Amino acid sequence: MTRTYRALSAYARTTATIESVARLAGWDQETYMPPGGAESRAEQLAALASIAHERKTSSQMRELIEACEQDRELTSDAESAYARSVHEFRHDFDRATKLPGDLVEELARAASRGQQVWKQARKANDFAAFRPALEAMIELTRRKAECYGVPRGGEPYDALLEDYEPGATAREIEAAFSPLRDRLSAMLAELGKGEHPDESITRVKIDPARQHELGLFVLKAMGFDLDAGRLDTTTHPFCDGLGPGDTRLTTRYREDHFTGALYGTLHEMGHGLYEQGLPKADHFGTPLGDAIGLGMHESQSRMWENMVGRSLAFWEWLLPYARKIVGGALDSATPRSLYAATNTAKASLIRVEADEATYNLHIMLRFGIERAVFRGDLAARDIPGVWDETFKQTLGLDVPDDARGCMQDVHWSAGLLGYFPTYALGNLYAAQFFEAARRDLGDLDAQFGRGDFAPLLGWLKTNIHAHGRRFRAGELCQRVTGRALSHAPLMRYLEGKLRPIYGV
Ligand code: ZN
Repeated sequence: MTRTYRALSAYARTTATIESVARLAGWDQETYMPPGGAESRAEQLAALASIAHERKTSSQMRELIEACEQDRELTSDAESAYARSVHEFRHDFDRATKLPGDLVEELARAASRGQQVWKQARKANDFAAFRPALEAMIELTRRKAECYGVPRGGEPYDALLEDYEPGATAREIEAAFSPLRDRLSAMLAELGKGEHPDESITRVKIDPARQHELGLFVLKAMGFDLDAGRLDTTTHPFCDGLGPGDTRLTTRYREDHFTGALYGTLHEMGHGLYEQGLPKADHFGTPLGDAIGLGMHESQSRMWENMVGRSLAFWEWLLPYARKIVGGALDSATPRSLYAATNTAKASLIRVEADEATYNLHIMLRFGIERAVFRGDLAARDIPGVWDETFKQTLGLDVPDDARGCMQDVHWSAGLLGYFPTYALGNLYAAQFFEAARRDLGDLDAQFGRGDFAPLLGWLKTNIHAHGRRFRAGELCQRVTGRALSHAPLMRYLEGKLRPIYGV
């Protein structure tokens, strides 16, 4: 490490530390803050955000980056970790300084107003009431994309993706999504002829305190470091890697749906293991200590939640312990009954309630609409019609109303346009990396069946977590799995699991 890089990373670490205090305040807001604290908390968060933004866009930051760029020793090998880090520093700085201040403010205002309008309009099932706010948000986002600039050979949507999935393009995503859409639809039709598993075992009543104990037991067994993390309860579960040695997970419990909490916890744990695996002790606040993007983050959560947590081997391992922890509720359960009950695939209206397989179809529908909007091929007023038609085509269901149709998600009202694809990219990356891990580590099921999750976690740390943002998601995928991102591993995984369960 050179003197120039040390100066840049020290400055960036202080900025990240200020942001981590804000995140801690945000975590507290969602968990333990008394309602009376809301107003002063908003002030605290705004003050910290403004200090952090000033530092991130300051002339000092610019000079520190330039000094690194001119430092031959640092950048002569463009592929070295530090050179890549400087490149990412530059990328972030340019992104942060490209938007004029008034546009940033307008976007923030439109997002907070948009969410209010959306809440009311969804409740009233009134798209016409939501439309002006949506149109305003689309217009501002279009301006945002123009400020960022469309990458050569790309389209405006690519500029939006960059906030969430750096380096990804709409065309590449479509290339993975399009065959996935066809094969998923075909698989669903096939499963429809089979027998839907009995899900009643997931509805037994289990006291939340015991569910919490079960969650902690699984976290510990899978390698989540509870001396460097916590699990608490919230209305909307999340994970926040606050900083070195401190990763917070949250979950929520329903007495009559223990698998909801269990898989929610496993999902957030997957995010948390990524955060704990990043080399933050040395690189906190720099691209080398940071996650690649939302798609890669989601791949870690989906892998632990679905590929590990919904395997037969997982239940063979967990059930004896779960029986002891939760009391009599699971006495009649078998590993196989739990395995079948937690692996269903059936079209439904609401994305957040969708299963692992059909979930991707919900995402592709949103991606197609967003892309068409930013190409100028689709106006906001026509979204409900296109939504309903596409939904019928891909999921085979009639959408009864806009509240359960195109108005179900908060994202568009909050200005999160270009965000949705990362959810499905997460599933694709998860399956492709999991296949590669299986190839490298041998019989993963035998390991899971013994409660031995260390080899998989070690593999993820070495191959993914340890690099921070040294590689872009697509590049890392190619390096580790030997192939570009494809729909095939996810389909092999889903068909291989679901066909036998449905008996088709
Ligand atoms: Zn997630």
